[in-house]
Amino acid sequence: MKTIEQIAAELQGYDPQALSADQVNEFLAHLVQPVTATEEVGVFEALDRVLAVDVVSPISVPPHDNSAMDGFAFDSRLLQPGQPLKLRVAGTAFAGKAWAGALQADQCLKIMTGAIMPAALDTVVPLEFVKVEGDRVEIPPGVVAAGDNRRLLGEDLMAGQPALRRGQTLGPAALGLIASLGLPTVTVFRRIRVAYFSTGDEILTLGEPIREGAVFDSNRYTVFGLLKRLGVDVIDMGVVRDEPALLEAAFRSAATLADAIITSGGVSMGEADHTKAMMKQLGDVAFWRIAMRPGRPMAVGRITERGKSSLLFGLPGNPVAVMVTFLAFVRPALQRLMGGAATSPVLLQAKSLEPLRKKPGRTEYQRGIVSRAGDGSLTVRITGNQGSGVLSSMVEANGLIVLHHSQGNVAVGDSVDVMMFSGVI
Ligand code: AMP
Ligand code: MG
Repeated sequence: MKTIEQIAAELQGYDPQALSADQVNEFLAHLVQPVTATEEVGVFEALDRVLAVDVVSPISVPPHDNSAMDGFAFDSRLLQPGQPLKLRVAGTAFAGKAWAGALQADQCLKIMTGAIMPAALDTVVPLEFVKVEGDRVEIPPGVVAAGDNRRLLGEDLMAGQPALRRGQTLGPAALGLIASLGLPTVTVFRRIRVAYFSTGDEILTLGEPIREGAVFDSNRYTVFGLLKRLGVDVIDMGVVRDEPALLEAAFRSAATLADAIITSGGVSMGEADHTKAMMKQLGDVAFWRIAMRPGRPMAVGRITERGKSSLLFGLPGNPVAVMVTFLAFVRPALQRLMGGAATSPVLLQAKSLEPLRKKPGRTEYQRGIVSRAGDGSLTVRITGNQGSGVLSSMVEANGLIVLHHSQGNVAVGDSVDVMMFSGVI
């Protein structure tokens, strides 16, 4: 396991006082050691888990050529351009049962969706296209071409081929795919546990009486929600007052319980509190100023307790800064820790309805509302007050406008990147 100092020495242009957002993610990619322990879980339990081994298909799906429609299966070599095709019906093939009869050259087979196609037949004409009289069927010219409405053996998956790759997060489609292979269980990485607490003497726990100068803790609730969306186990450690003994106990117990610790508050410059000092005392921690807005200060490192080490993310205190730094850095780092790949929430391009002031040399995140204009194109406007403490404008937003490091001012009509919240926030 590399120390903060070792990782820093390997990174080009590392300056803890002026890191770019990209450098932060690069640093975290070196810091994070993915979990290795695995467990076997049932398919229902596998939702949102990270696959630990490739899933190789034991069977072909579908296992036979079969019909995609209710209709008549026939041999397309009998089709004559511009001519109707008249055939006799030899029988009916139902889904789930192999049809065992014999076919003569001028015969077709009535066939239901999903029923096995006999080897001699290659095409299905849907019921609604044909004239039927007794056991006679007439296919008008031009309604069907060779190979139509036939699903091929293995067109979804071929036996022996990897169906899903290690590191993939399993969503609803993947669960269905695993089940379609007949696999009742799947091997996933163990769940990670993330502990979080808020720091600051002015922070009130819900239920505490209001006092002057104090604010209710909101960060624990946003962090909880963001972690739940990611599918990790959460350990809520409450609000920790700014006393060395309390902070020490909280950090030590979090390190023994969790794979990662997220705190908020107490890492900015002029802090008179003990949070930074305790992080420094107990862990191998870097204190950064990141070229971004909101969310400039952040502490990152490891705290080791009784031989067990936990990643530490010391986020700034401002509620919006917490969410932005979580999305920009903590989320991808935790995805790696879970054994998966770091993925960004969906990025869309939308035309800005407003001019946006932006200084090159830092990444800025503005809360935006993306909508579809009458012509189908996407537009974005910013929610009101962009102050880093203003959560209400985060609630209104459906995405974050990402103004990249070297980008300058945005004019009305310019395209900007927007990180969409759906599924994430
Ligand atoms: P800090 O990073 O500790 O300087 O905090 C920056 C601002 O965020 C201050 O106004 C704090 O009162 C506020 N803040 C810190 N922690 C929380 C929290 N858990 N919930 C709501 N606001 C907070
Ligand atoms: Mg503070």
